[in-house]
Amino acid sequence: MGQQIANKSELSDTERQVVHEISDEEPWALLEQFSELERVSGSDDEKEAAEYITDRLESFGVTYDRYDPELYISQPHDASVTATDREFSADFAKTVSFAASQTVTAPVEYVGSAGPSFLDDPDPDEALAEPYEDVGDLSAKIALTAAGSLSIRATRKLESKGAEGVIAIHEHDREPHNGIATPIWGGVPELHERDKIPDVPIVHVNSPDGEQLRSMADDDGVTAELSTSLTTDWFECPVIVASIDATEVESDEFVLLHGHYDSWHVGITDNATGDAGMLEIARVFDDVADTLNRNLRIAWWPGHSTGRYAGSTWYADEFGVELARNCVAHVNMDSPGTKDATEYTDMSCWTPEAHELVTESIDDVTGASSQERFPFRAGDYSFDNLGVTGFLMLSSNIPEDIRDERGYHTVGGCGGNSDAWHLSTDTLDKAGRDELVRDIRVYAVSLLRVLTPDVLPFDHRRNAEKIRETVAGYDDAAEDNFDFSPTLDALEQLVEALDSFQTAIANDDIDPATANRTITELSRVLTRLNLVEKKQFEQDPAVSRQPVPRYAPAERFETLDEDERRFLTRQLTRKQNAVVYDLENALEEMPT
Ligand SMILES: [Zn+2]
Repeated sequence: MGQQIANKSELSDTERQVVHEISDEEPWALLEQFSELERVSGSDDEKEAAEYITDRLESFGVTYDRYDPELYISQPHDASVTATDREFSADFAKTVSFAASQTVTAPVEYVGSAGPSFLDDPDPDEALAEPYEDVGDLSAKIALTAAGSLSIRATRKLESKGAEGVIAIHEHDREPHNGIATPIWGGVPELHERDKIPDVPIVHVNSPDGEQLRSMADDDGVTAELSTSLTTDWFECPVIVASIDATEVESDEFVLLHGHYDSWHVGITDNATGDAGMLEIARVFDDVADTLNRNLRIAWWPGHSTGRYAGSTWYADEFGVELARNCVAHVNMDSPGTKDATEYTDMSCWTPEAHELVTESIDDVTGASSQERFPFRAGDYSFDNLGVTGFLMLSSNIPEDIRDERGYHTVGGCGGNSDAWHLSTDTLDKAGRDELVRDIRVYAVSLLRVLTPDVLPFDHRRNAEKIRETVAGYDDAAEDNFDFSPTLDALEQLVEALDSFQTAIANDDIDPATANRTITELSRVLTRLNLVEKKQFEQDPAVSRQPVPRYAPAERFETLDEDERRFLTRQLTRKQNAVVYDLENALEEMPT
């Protein structure tokens, strides 16, 4: 069944057994079930989907836990945009989770574009420019903006300029994409953060309606009534976590494979295909538990779409200390198996130490090309602040030339199929049987390569080197304003120490338990340095980020006045102290 394995000779016996066992039967049965379920978090359809998963796990004899936490969810219901001074009514308006549920009437002002989406290659000049820099006061106005899928930063900016409401024009001709407007990771704000949830109604419209509104606004002005209806409240939502424990060894270490099962509409390629893949991995890995050196947990999350990753964030909070101690890697399975997705170049991401592991797994299973991307602050990457090595989120994509041919605009999922992503058309026909089986095999092989060896396969020398390159870039950008050499020196020493460490591992000169402890501890320090700003048991907001985000403001020196430069210098001094302290501690802990 499915496609041939590209490099069968590179696979171990267990890997061969597992890829052979993986078929489309169980996965496709799930897709057919889920194609009848609109799995909005807090709904009966979501609970039915959870029960389908647990029924199947029981039939395989796989043990699992079901939790039913109350998550802070925002269900969008209806939205409309109508002109009050002429005939106009948007065809297919949608509001977004965590927008205000409200009706406002005001003149419409077109304010330009929201800026690049998180999937676009960051243009260093554009990354610095704030969206709407030249837009003035928007009090008593509705802001109309062009946005592929409106960025959170853009909404915040328009709200801070006084806008009463926001209309976002999507690139899609028929139906705007569903989305979410809160930057608060996990949905639940801390007490002091509640004002970060937008306080204005937000409506997405399709491209023809948006363009019509824009020309009316630009020509002689238009007044619109914008109306939204949402329920933002606590909903009990099932979280399912299956356990495949190593049977021949006792280990506290585990890998967390995870993905969301809630959806927009029936969400077949986002993310019923991922749910199906995880179920298939549970079924097949149960048979090879005797070959594992550490445990596998498989989690199906609710609350991803309407709660800004509420399910995975709940888990990260509830089991934070245990994850920090024992989770050696997290692997996200979101939107695999889209029809015609044949390469791994545009959407797949991983932390640097997992590069060889992931690219070799892709190559051995598929022979397709792949490309490393810096992990997006999106998906269910709720384990970044904990400092957990992560790989994959999205995986395969439709090649760019085919997307262009079909007129697909850029979207952040569904393999690049913009006629599926967060739309009512994300239906069974968007999934591919062969593509799904192939992607499940990629996940399976990469998981086995973490679960079976004595020593974890993560190369932190590469991680430290990449971070060093990034910091060197900030050091250049800061010119004489700031000196990052304490960080650069510490990273250089770490790279040297890691050279000897990797050699010792290769020569069996270090016992595996010590090596694994060191590797995991380095994941905590380096992943946090590379990906986040906030503390270990907190959550960075869901906004786009640069590598080593604590140091990224160094690029702004040239745009600042004298006082501001001195403020930023003080800020960076504090950040650098924390970084160097952590790096020195990590160095001291290195086995010699
Ligand atoms: Zn998804």
